Amino acid sequence: MHDFSQFIREIPDFPKAGIIFKDITPLLGNPTAFHKATDEFARRYKSEAIDAVVGIDARGFIFAAALAYRLGAAFVPIRKSGKLPFDKYEVTYDLEYGSDTVAIHRDAFPKGSKVLICDDLLATGGTLAASVNLIEKLEGNIVGIAILIELTELNGREQVPDYDIFSLIKY
Ligand code: AMP
Repeated sequence: MHDFSQFIREIPDFPKAGIIFKDITPLLGNPTAFHKATDEFARRYKSEAIDAVVGIDARGFIFAAALAYRLGAAFVPIRKSGKLPFDKYEVTYDLEYGSDTVAIHRDAFPKGSKVLICDDLLATGGTLAASVNLIEKLEGNIVGIAILIELTELNGREQVPDYDIFSLIKY
């Protein structure tokens, strides 16, 4: 597999002290790297007949949209609270300090659809677990989870033990 880590810029203490922010804009800004990363995901899922790629707000949308186009699938957004205008399901989950809410439209895809989840980064897995929960409410069939960057020390994948996670860069 291609080494994409050279295109990830690390910013210490952003957005707050103690966090090393993984900045994906150098990868997005390099046409070859962006293309290759999208193609690696597409290669993994192209024989799965995916109906919908679900992207997680906000950086997940970038790869999810490119991948949906590449796979001939629908694109579905999972958004942070207060952004979706129509009937929705919501799930609230705990953060280190406080909580967050994610939402999906109730008519996002038909029951039984083959769904691929896509996000830029897996840290503690809280956002991903809440997103899985939303898709389960809609009775989607989760075929896989595609992640650009996985922070393995945080064991985020343990939050969704029933599903296969494919990550392109591991730290
Ligand atoms: P979590 O719910 O802890 O797995 O966090 C996942 C979301 O937070 C991802 O969608 C990222 O966009 C963002 N995030 C968490 N940690 C980082 C980090 N070190 N660098 C960049 N984004 C992060």
